[in-house]
Amino acid sequence: MAFTGERTATCCCGSFIVTARGEPTHVYACSCLECQRGSGSAFSYAAIYPEQAVTIAGAPSVFRRRGDFARLIESSFCPTCGTTVCFRAEAMPGMIGIAVGCFADPDFAKPERLFWASRRHRWLDLGEGIALLETQPD
Ligand SMILES: [Zn+2]
Ligand SMILES: [Zn+2]
Repeated sequence: MAFTGERTATCCCGSFIVTARGEPTHVYACSCLECQRGSGSAFSYAAIYPEQAVTIAGAPSVFRRRGDFARLIESSFCPTCGTTVCFRAEAMPGMIGIAVGCFADPDFAKPERLFWASRRHRWLDLGEGIALLETQPD
């Protein structure tokens, strides 16, 4: 049976809270160099939800950058603790991405795909069932 409840993603200090209803449309990881910088880790890990399934509470700051193929990506982060909890991307209108780590739920769905596998850290082995894409589909 499909999950119809809510999950809550929060920043480290707890003042920026993003609530998502139901299951995400997609879950992916990306090891492009910008995601490595933005996450401070080897890859980003995000769940994509329709806008109407997401509620945002708090007063996040916004950082805009041009991603691959020069499309705009807008990250919302907590001005106090600096955690990026969610983002919007020009490439996915009407959708909101949520940083999966902010759910603090080890049972959260695994990514279906790793984008930019060509730039992943050499040790990174994600195991079976996760498609490795050398770049990102346009
Ligand atoms: Zn915070
Ligand atoms: Zn990326």
